[in-house]
Amino acid sequence: MGIRTGDQYIEGLRSRQPEVWMSGRRITNLVDEPVFQQPILEMAKLYDMQHDPAYQDKITHVCEETGERVNNSFLVPKNYEDLQKRRAIFEAYARATFGLMGRTPDFLNVVVTSMASNSNFLDKYNKDWSENINNYYRHIRDNDLFLTHAIINPQNDRSKSSHEQKDTFTHLGAVKETPEGLVVRGAKMLATLAPITDEVIVYSFPGFKPGDERYALAFAIPIDTPGLRILCREPMQDGTRSLFDHPIASRFEEMDAVLVFHDVLIPWNRVFLYNNVEAANLLYPKTGIAQQPAHQSGIRGLVKLQFAAEVACKVADSIGVDVFLNVQDQLGELIQSVETIRALLRVAEYEFELNPLGEAMPSAAALETIRGLMPNVYPRAIEVIQIIGAGGLLMSPTGADFEHPELAEDMEQFYVGKEGVSGEERVRLFKLAWDLCGEAFGQRLLQYERYYTGDPLRKRAIFYNAFKRNHSFEMVDEALNIADVKKIVTTT
Ligand SMILES: Cc1cc2nc3c(=O)[nH]c(=O)nc-3n(C[C@H](O)[C@H](O)[C@H](O)COP(=O)(O)OP(=O)(O)OC[C@H]3O[C@@H](n4cnc5c(N)ncnc54)[C@H](O)[C@@H]3O)c2cc1C
Repeated sequence: MGIRTGDQYIEGLRSRQPEVWMSGRRITNLVDEPVFQQPILEMAKLYDMQHDPAYQDKITHVCEETGERVNNSFLVPKNYEDLQKRRAIFEAYARATFGLMGRTPDFLNVVVTSMASNSNFLDKYNKDWSENINNYYRHIRDNDLFLTHAIINPQNDRSKSSHEQKDTFTHLGAVKETPEGLVVRGAKMLATLAPITDEVIVYSFPGFKPGDERYALAFAIPIDTPGLRILCREPMQDGTRSLFDHPIASRFEEMDAVLVFHDVLIPWNRVFLYNNVEAANLLYPKTGIAQQPAHQSGIRGLVKLQFAAEVACKVADSIGVDVFLNVQDQLGELIQSVETIRALLRVAEYEFELNPLGEAMPSAAALETIRGLMPNVYPRAIEVIQIIGAGGLLMSPTGADFEHPELAEDMEQFYVGKEGVSGEERVRLFKLAWDLCGEAFGQRLLQYERYYTGDPLRKRAIFYNAFKRNHSFEMVDEALNIADVKKIVTTT
């Protein structure tokens, strides 16, 4: 089949009945549920972009294996040009969503592509596992499926490993083997967009210890597999708020969910590894599933940071405060943060390395630096919008007030910005800013930037330890050797 249209994506959603729970209700008609309607349309737009002549050649390619057109996020990059082709899809999807949706389909497409192309290390344990992940890669590429993922255990007692938790099956683990497949029980989080996806892939960060064997798992199943329950968090919008009042919060909310597996059967051909602590701990380092998707998340993060910086600049300009030195200083700082991330991405692409299989890996150091900086610079951008917008962020009336004839004059007189900025323009801009920096929607976006890729604190420690292992610190030695050179004796 190859690339799908938005309608085909929506038809796919209609054809399934996943067990989705939200606010004490079982959602039986996902597509018509107000909370999901707008995000589904945003996602459908991305699928349609693949067929848009303005984008098609930039974001899709003809697959050598099938002759069908597929998304560029399924490319196994071999050189700089391939990385640019992949960049084009990441950029196009991020621009279409202002970088506000982190888990657009391209993200997990890259994860599965990288897991499959580097899966040969699994052959040592079980040859079926690498064959399964490669077949799965073809399945999602050729059917253009949309995946969610759940890689974290629920936050119960982090001081204990999975097998030490009070209940054996609080964390997701294998229960038994059957001729048809593996039966699993327990929970995983935090499956973003799960209700409106086609499939879920489950794997884990390294860190398994002996005794954790039953939890050392990786597999993928359709999202409506019997026994899989999707427990949504409380929605941040009810799906009825107007685009005037909440221009981005009403469109781009990504629902997050805990996945509970009530004795779910995973067919053997969908099992990528199980019952093997060593293989599970090697999955990340051996398959590049941190490094390759960091290219996507770096580009998506750059667009989001650029968007936040633009909002801050426009807010400042609209009320004439960007003539003040302190405001210019803060805006300059945001623009410099954008430039830093932009430059790091270029370094990541220019300084790619070929792995032993000939796959182009963007520079890990540059991408990890982006992942380390974003949890600082994005919250700072949000803080700057709050500081510059100040009380104005809280004085916005609603679209309905603008429509009421009795209020029309007041709206234009008291909400007007600096010369040339009408009352309506100023209020619309400040509402956009409030969605980003004040609404629960904006707070989630901030929490996303801190944690979407794992705990930034531990990731930075891992980064330092890798640096220490691979770095010679020779300048210090050189400097110390200079100190040994004998003093020049001067004669008079
Ligand atoms: C908006 C959002 C969307 C997400 N989407 C997804 C998704 O689609 N799929 C998915 O699988 N995951 C997703 N995640 C989950 C993400 O991977 C985790 O939030 C992240 O890995 C951190 O884990 P945690 O939240 O369980 O925090 P914890 O690991 O419980 O950490 C809590 C605090 O304790 C500290 N801490 C915990 N353990 C240690 C330790 N051993 N040593 C030192 N300090 C420690 C941390 O520094 C942190 O401050 C998402 C998260 C967010 C916020």
